[in-house]
Amino acid sequence: MKDILPEETRKWQAIEEKAREVFHLYGYSEIRTPVLEESFLFCQSVGRDTDIVQKQMFSFSQGKEREICLRPEQTASIVRAYIEHSVDKKGELAKYYYSGPMFRKERPQKGRRRQFYQIGAEAIGSNSPYLDAEVICLVSDILRAAKVGNYQIELNNIGCRQCQPNYKAALRQYFQDRIELLCPDCQRRFKTNILRILDCKKQDCQLLIQKAPSILEHLCQRCNLHFTEVKEILSEVSPHSNHYVINPRIVRGLDYYTDTVFEITHPDLGSQNALAAGGRYNNLIEQMGGKPEPAVGFSLGMERVSAVSTLVTENSSLFIFFAALGQAAYRESYKIMRGLREKGIACEIDYQDKSLKAQMRVANKMRAKFAVLLGEKELKKGIIILRNMETKEQKEIKLEDAYSQLRTTK
Ligand SMILES: [Zn+2]
Ligand SMILES: [Zn+2]
Repeated sequence: MKDILPEETRKWQAIEEKAREVFHLYGYSEIRTPVLEESFLFCQSVGRDTDIVQKQMFSFSQGKEREICLRPEQTASIVRAYIEHSVDKKGELAKYYYSGPMFRKERPQKGRRRQFYQIGAEAIGSNSPYLDAEVICLVSDILRAAKVGNYQIELNNIGCRQCQPNYKAALRQYFQDRIELLCPDCQRRFKTNILRILDCKKQDCQLLIQKAPSILEHLCQRCNLHFTEVKEILSEVSPHSNHYVINPRIVRGLDYYTDTVFEITHPDLGSQNALAAGGRYNNLIEQMGGKPEPAVGFSLGMERVSAVSTLVTENSSLFIFFAALGQAAYRESYKIMRGLREKGIACEIDYQDKSLKAQMRVANKMRAKFAVLLGEKELKKGIIILRNMETKEQKEIKLEDAYSQLRTTK
């Protein structure tokens, strides 16, 4: 886990602001759910046999109560909230976005943290392929707004309840004779969730995976049509998504996905190269006790997006720095400053009894546009000196006019 200090939060805030603007354009509203959930929620949705539930949840029990955990991802919580508040009964399309910390007890490794931040969205209540395309355009627009270039969209369809079992059978047949060649994790996956083998990054497994049967040859007619439509729509509506590629090996590490799945990768990120990922989860709402509603969503990793974003963020600039010398002048400056802040003008004053020279250095560092200089002499003459920090020009202003003049100074 990591502290995020102002140099970094400035960039994060800028990315969050851009994301919020894009969500607004697409009609998504923010949802906030607690960071704690019952562990059972994720067994039921993400899947009992997934790495997340098996090894990566921070869970603890509270005496007789059910075991709770720090949320490892957000989709399950949102679906829980969606059902709990009976939104499923309204028959409306629910469009939510979120941002916040998630938690996984990872082995420490490059590109992964145990507390990490995600921004994402869920659209619940439609199986339209246009909605799949919308979600992909949405992520793409956020990445472009965050000045992330060079990313690639990888697209796949992992089938539905009807056709996925046929594909799994084909995979079982293929890996059956090669089981000793698989890594221990994949040997376990062979029994628990065979699709997950396709996720394995180990080289020996990769060699086998490349020759394994493709899901795309096993899709039912309905899934095939849906996939074709998503691809067509994407090619037509979004020139930015034109660089999507089909990758039949993408399966995602969570059990709830069906149909369309996608990952957005970036070449500068190394082995953990996914910036964002998402897909459909058409059975999840029903599976968790709600009315059957198809849904699609995505999430992006804040740390990774920030790492490849070229957004330039600077400390928001200060407008006026008050450099006062002497008790009475300080008190007068403080009063003027208070009035300006009330009017929404950013001001600062020295609180550390610094010399005038040192105060001016601080003003420079804070990138103040103006400095107000006020000492005993000026106070006696009833004036303040206004200094333009860039041009170094100085002018005198009558003390009684100071407030109104400073307020309108540009
Ligand atoms: Zn299907
Ligand atoms: Zn493996």
